[in-house]
Formats: sequence, structure tokens, C-alpha cells
Amino acid sequence: MIHFRRIGHRLLASVGGIVILGIVAITLTYAIRQEASSLQQAENALGKVTDSVAEGLAAIMLGGHAKAAPDFASRLKNVPNVIDYRIIRIDGTQAFVDNATVERVNTRLGEFEFTGRKGEPAPVRAVSSIDPALERMRQTGERVFSYHTQPGGERLVTVFSPIHAGLSCKKCHGAEDVLRGAITLTVSMKDIDDDVEHTWRLSILVIIGALAGIIALIYWFAHRTVVSQIAEFLKAMETAAVGDNSVRLKATSRDEIGRMAHSFNHMNEELLQIYGNLKEERTKLNTVIHGASSGIVVTDAKQQVVLVNRAAENIIGRSEQAIIERGFLHLFDDSAWMEARIQDEGGEASSPLLEWNGKILSVQASTIRHEDGTIIGSAALIRDITEEKRLEARLKEQSITDALTGLHNRRHFDEVLVTEFKRWKRYAQPLSVMMIDVDHFKKFNDTHGHDCGDRVLGAIGAVLKALAAPSLIPCRYGGEEMLIVMPGVVEERGVQLAETVRQRIAELVIDGLKVTVSIGVAGLPGHEVENGDALVKLADDALYDAKEGGRNQVRRAGPRSAGYLGADTQ
Ligand code: GH3
Ligand code: MG
Ligand code: MG
Repeated sequence: MIHFRRIGHRLLASVGGIVILGIVAITLTYAIRQEASSLQQAENALGKVTDSVAEGLAAIMLGGHAKAAPDFASRLKNVPNVIDYRIIRIDGTQAFVDNATVERVNTRLGEFEFTGRKGEPAPVRAVSSIDPALERMRQTGERVFSYHTQPGGERLVTVFSPIHAGLSCKKCHGAEDVLRGAITLTVSMKDIDDDVEHTWRLSILVIIGALAGIIALIYWFAHRTVVSQIAEFLKAMETAAVGDNSVRLKATSRDEIGRMAHSFNHMNEELLQIYGNLKEERTKLNTVIHGASSGIVVTDAKQQVVLVNRAAENIIGRSEQAIIERGFLHLFDDSAWMEARIQDEGGEASSPLLEWNGKILSVQASTIRHEDGTIIGSAALIRDITEEKRLEARLKEQSITDALTGLHNRRHFDEVLVTEFKRWKRYAQPLSVMMIDVDHFKKFNDTHGHDCGDRVLGAIGAVLKALAAPSLIPCRYGGEEMLIVMPGVVEERGVQLAETVRQRIAELVIDGLKVTVSIGVAGLPGHEVENGDALVKLADDALYDAKEGGRNQVRRAGPRSAGYLGADTQ
């Protein structure tokens, strides 16, 4: 099977091949028929000549002029290209050269009617007695042609033209033989062969000419109707294949090529439209991605980073190039953590939070899959939540802080008390509380105004905050009562701390005024209590004792609460 690189060549080979086969067949048939016809004409001409000579010879013989027969036959010399002619007997010996016939006739007639040739010449064999052509002539009584080639290559034809025995012949020669003999004429076929060769040459020339003409014609036609249009189509398709869809083909015909061109133009228009829409979408997406405040990093299926937005560069603190070079798993140095985030598919099995360059980041990493489930990449959404976290902490702080004193509020105090009491129960960690109440504050308010009273409460809050170690939790219990929860502090130590608090508050001067506080302290171990509230109640009782005892003093809870621990009298 031959593979053509060009459609023109294939058309040429298929159509041209068929047409040429036809022409070759027609020309060859013509040449063969011409050859046969030339041969037939030559045979007819030769046959007519020899037949007429044979007939003439029969007439001469009938007239008894046998001796003139050879001279008569010599007319055959005039036949063009003659090489040999003879008058032969039916046994193949040459007639009129020996005395065989004369003697046989004389013997038959019983008298010497005819005189023989002088010198008793020997018989001459002209043709072998078993020559196939001679044999065929004897059998059919018809003219026979025998062809043979000379050593030099020249073809010869010998025509055996029979001389029939007429009624009058029988008088001398008897009635046994139907044929008396034959005229043989050997002629060179050179002229005929030259003619045939000429015909063949002409035929071959015709074939070559037709071949060239047909090839040129088919090529021109195929090029004009198919090849040039397909070439144009191919060029347009190659242009479209590299992304230029602006090419349009001329759809001039209504045939398949015309329809193909029409479809191609339609396809290009559609593609341009789709491409335009895609570009628009991509621009939108790019704007969104690059304008996003969250960092976005996307990879392809081979985990090669293909997209880094500006926010990602800013948050990570590396250039796009550096991020691409380091790879997706090394966005934040710890590749194992990143791997866990991808495995987690954006879930909460691993912490999405990361401290990075003094920022708190939230990283959602996930695998991007095609509809059929094939992985086509990974994406990381990185949010800098430092500010969010700060705000959250502040809000939380606010939610548990009393605005006037800056101390923890009652709600927080309740929670802390439960937690710390549990800790005491579980780990026997000491826990003390001190309850502080401003002395005669109602009167203070009445005298100096509520606002001034507020400033006093604020100042007391500040003192408590300043005095309380980080492990101590000062709270506003309600009104002008304050509390310090003291985890890890035994009651005795709590009392000492309370004394310090009392003294510091007593030293405070607000708007040129002074206040005092009374404090009750209760601590574990040392008391049998069911819960934190019961402990607070003990402290409250101790506070009541302090009030009862004259205010501006600290009292210890329970049996010992009666014990005076120190006071300033103003
Ligand atoms: P005692 O020495 O027995 O404690 O006398 P007291 O007047 O302080 O009595 P009590 O503790 O019962 O009075 C509480 C007063 O505290 C009542 C109210 O006027 C005042 N007070 C409560 N909350 C606030 C506040 O938020 N701001 C101001 N300015 N005063 C408050
Ligand atoms: Mg009170
Ligand atoms: Mg009071």
C-alpha cells in the first residue's frame, strides 16, 4: 500500500491510473489488430498471386506446353521481396527439372508421347516430403502459409498454393491424385514487419503522449477543484490550531468542501466567542484572586505551584518566584504540617492556625478534583487573622470586664469560682477569697456625689489590679463590693494580702478625699464547704464581722473570724 503525502498525488494515481490503463488497453488492442490485419492483407495478396499463377500453369499444362511451365512460373519473380519460387510435386520434389513425370506418363500411356530432358538430370528436393505445411496442404487441398525466421532474424513466409488435378489432367496423369502439385513462393516479410513495428512505435508514442496529457490534465483539474481548496483549508486549520481563530474561508461551492469551509468558519466564530467569554471570566477571576485579601496559592496535578496572588506574597513574606521555587509543601517551612492540612481536606482534624512571622494565620488547604475524581491540583487559602484574634480577645476581655473598675465582672467571677473550686477538690490546691466592701459608701455618695463615688470605685479597682499577682483574679462582686479569688493561696496568706489591700486603699486620695474598706477572708483548707459559693459566704460573714468590728479592718472566716487581725482607725 502506497502512502501519499499529498491528496493531489493520490487523485492523480487513482484517476490517472484507471484512465491510463484504459488507454493502454485500447491502444494495445488497436496495435494487435493492426498487426493481424497487415498480415492478413499480405497473405491475401500472396495467395492471389500464387493462385493466379497456379491457374495459368494448369491451362498451360492442359495445352500440352509443359515445357513452358517454368518460364510461366518465373512471373513470380515480379512479386515484391520474392526470395524463392518453385513448382513442386505433391511429394516435395521440384517439377520440370527431371524426367520422373515424363517417364511415368509415357509408361502409363504405353508409348513415348513425351520426350524427356537430355542428360537424365537428377531429381531436386524442394521441400521435405514430411514438411508440416506441405502435409496440411495435401490434406486440406487449401492454400497454406508457413512462417520461418532466417538466421539473421529476417522473417520469411512461404505460401503453398495447391495445383488441383482437373479432368483433362487425368488423361495423362491418371485419376489417383486430387492435387497435381503446388506453387511455393517464399517472400521476405521485412516490409510487413517494418509496418507492424511502425504501428507499435506509433502506439507507444500515443500512449506516452496520452499519459503525459492525462497526468497534466488531472493534476490541473484536481488542483483547481480539490487540492488548492484543501491546502487553503489546511493552512486555516493550522492557524486556528495555534490559537488564531480570526481566519475565514471562502465558501464558494455547495459541495462537501464548500460545506466544510462553512462549518469551519462557524466553528471559528464559536471558538472566538467562547475564547472571548473565557478571557473575560479569567480577567474577572484574576481581579478577584489578585485583589483578594486572603492569600491564594494553587498547584497543578504535579504539585507544581502555578498561581500565587499578591496577598499570599504579603502574608507569607516571600516573592511569587520564591514560593514557586520552594514548592507547595514548603509554604511555611513545616512540610509535615502542610501535608496534614491537605490530607485533612480543609477540615478541623489538624489545627488550621499557624503562627508565622508574628502573625496568626488560618490555612485551609485542599485537593482540587475533576468531576470524575481525578486530582488536578491543590489550593491553599491563607488568611491573616492576627487582627481578628486580637479583636476577639479584646471582646472576650470586655465581656468579662467591669467597665467602671476594670476588674473581672460577676459572670466571670462565677465561672472562675466553679473552676477553681473543682481544682481544689481534685488536686487539693489551696483556694482563698477576700471580699472587700467600702465603708459608709452610701453616705460618701450622698455627701460627695455619685460621680465622685464612681471615681473612688475606679481607683480601688486600679489598686486591686496592681496588687494582684497574675494568678489572682480580682472581680467586682456587685455595687461597691469587690472580691479577689486567690488560687494556690492558703487562708493565712490571703489574710496578709487583704491587709496590704486594706492599707493601700486607706492611703488612696481621690478628689482630696479618702475612703476605707472592710475585708473578709476565707480559705481552703481550713473549712468544710460544699462549693465555691459557700466559701464566698464564709468570706462575706467575715466581712460582716469586720463591719461589726468597726470597719477598716480584715477578718478571717469561721471560728477564727472573731480574731482581730489589724485595723486603722481614722
Ligand atoms: P457600710 O459601711 O455598712 O457598707 O455602709 P454603706 O453605706 O456602704 O452600706 P451599703 O454597703 O449597704 O451601701 C452600698 C452603697 O453603695 C449604696 C450605693 O449608694 C453605693 N453604691 C453601690 N454601687 C455604686 C456605684 O456603682 N457607684 C456609686 N457611686 N455608688 C454605689
Ligand atoms: Mg455594701
Ligand atoms: Mg459598704
